[in-house]
Amino acid sequence: MVTHHNKSTENILDKVESHLHQQGGRMTSVRREIVVKMAELDKPKTAYQILEAINKKRKTKLSAISLYRILEFLMEAGVVLKLESKNAFELCLNDEPEHSHLVMVCDKCGHVLEVDDHTLSKNLTKTAQKHGHTLKHHVIELHGVCQDC
Ligand SMILES: [Zn+2]
Ligand SMILES: [Zn+2]
Repeated sequence: MVTHHNKSTENILDKVESHLHQQGGRMTSVRREIVVKMAELDKPKTAYQILEAINKKRKTKLSAISLYRILEFLMEAGVVLKLESKNAFELCLNDEPEHSHLVMVCDKCGHVLEVDDHTLSKNLTKTAQKHGHTLKHHVIELHGVCQDC
């Protein structure tokens, strides 16, 4: 089987892989498959959409439970983020290990853009610490209308 990746998919895979290494995780072939599929589908996708896309080309079907487990793992590794409002998943492309996932969501076309805000990330961590809260995973969704809409 020949898989054809474009440049940006390769970049995403490199990032995911280095994130996983930092976290002591491994890139297994099925994890890789999911990341590639998520990179191909260009909007945030529900677990069902990811599963459907993956199983289209598979002889041995991936189960929903396996997919959820892998998504959970990738979220813990900080390379996949969940958009609660859409019940959908997106790849995180930010290199900073300790960043807030700050995501601008277009409510018209569904476009998603993750942006950087160091000051906000720092302040969030500080505020959490002040209240004795250990911050693990968080996604901040900024809803609105994108440039193109
Ligand atoms: Zn992120
Ligand atoms: Zn838009």
